[in-house]
Amino acid sequence: MRNNPYIAKRAINEASLRKANVPFLSRFDIELTERCNNNCIHCCINLSADNVNAREKELSTGRIKIILKEAASLGCLRVRFTGGEPLLREDFEELYIFARKLGLKVLIFSNATLLTPHLAELFSRILPLEKIEITLYGMKKSSYEAITRVNGSFAAAWRGISLLLDHKIPFVVKGALLPGNKDEIKEFEKWAGTIPWADKSPPYSMFFDLRCRRDKGKNRSIKNLRLSPEEGLKFLTRSKDKYVKEMKEFCSKFMRLSGDKLFTCGSGSDGGCVDAYGYFYPCMMLKHPDTGYDLKKGSLKDALTGFFPKLREIRSTNPEYLKRCAKCFLKGLCEQCPAKSWIEHGNLDTPVEYLCEIAHVQARFLALVKDDEMAWEVKDWGGRIKKFTRGCNHGTKS
Ligand code: SF4
Ligand code: SF4
Repeated sequence: MRNNPYIAKRAINEASLRKANVPFLSRFDIELTERCNNNCIHCCINLSADNVNAREKELSTGRIKIILKEAASLGCLRVRFTGGEPLLREDFEELYIFARKLGLKVLIFSNATLLTPHLAELFSRILPLEKIEITLYGMKKSSYEAITRVNGSFAAAWRGISLLLDHKIPFVVKGALLPGNKDEIKEFEKWAGTIPWADKSPPYSMFFDLRCRRDKGKNRSIKNLRLSPEEGLKFLTRSKDKYVKEMKEFCSKFMRLSGDKLFTCGSGSDGGCVDAYGYFYPCMMLKHPDTGYDLKKGSLKDALTGFFPKLREIRSTNPEYLKRCAKCFLKGLCEQCPAKSWIEHGNLDTPVEYLCEIAHVQARFLALVKDDEMAWEVKDWGGRIKKFTRGCNHGTKS
């Protein structure tokens, strides 16, 4: 252990690592590329693997190393390598080893199709220390490739998954609920349950995001793939008791009013996402140009101590937002946030009707909102949450 090159020891009281009692940066994401070797019908980010323009603009190996180094110096413990498809980068191995030598745990989001015996051997020798997350789009070639639109991708993904299993590299899988694979859910979950490192049922994406760069070509088809709020509720409540139990716990922690403040989650406080071109954003889905900090002009620390705190203070001036979301106790349940507003409307504070409906069908199912009410009209919401969460350990914050 003493001479392990993949463990960095830092003194806990090292001033440069901390602000008050928390690290400046505890975890962060790097989108190594927006390119992908798949072309999934629902994808909110992918550019084609051979997009030269995108490739040329991507951060160089050296620049990524500088960012990783600074992250470690700010107390960061975990980096997520994501994309697009992160394994598409030719320098992936070099960056992975560099991050691990800094002592960072590396969480890899991948479609598994580009995993090679060489990479599997590398991951088994130098463990990422975080389970690799693989998205699997179908259990059959026909369903999988109807989604990825790449011949041979099904076999490639399973080859990659077999390599992980053979080398005993911890990984978990995620699904995407799409018309082409919705009849395979049972088969998928049964198989996912056999993965030695699976500790819960696989999560699914189903309320798909539109294109996060607002390149609108695919948006109409992405909208058509989304489950209706009622279909989504049916899926979420397929194990009703489990759903209600989870929601009680969730509601006891997260239901509250947030007023006109736009950033109510922790994004940008001790984490964020560096995009493929060197802009540091508070969160992965938020690509509004005013919310990205150009790392050519400053450091991660500058963003975390100057740029993000100002951003996090932004308040809404949109009358529609002030009338609804500012007074709505479902804000924790609903995914309405500046990122979703950006993706759907191009600004930071316009309510997204689709997300509003999803939150309301769930709240009605849980009897938190009556059929003829909208959540922002409910005055006694605190009492309703208290009644619903009775028996849970966490108190309601109002
Ligand atoms: S594999 Fe992931 S990143 Fe690539 S196209 Fe599909 S959803 Fe997008
Ligand atoms: S449920 Fe509707 S009103 Fe409430 S926060 Fe979400 S979008 Fe706004």
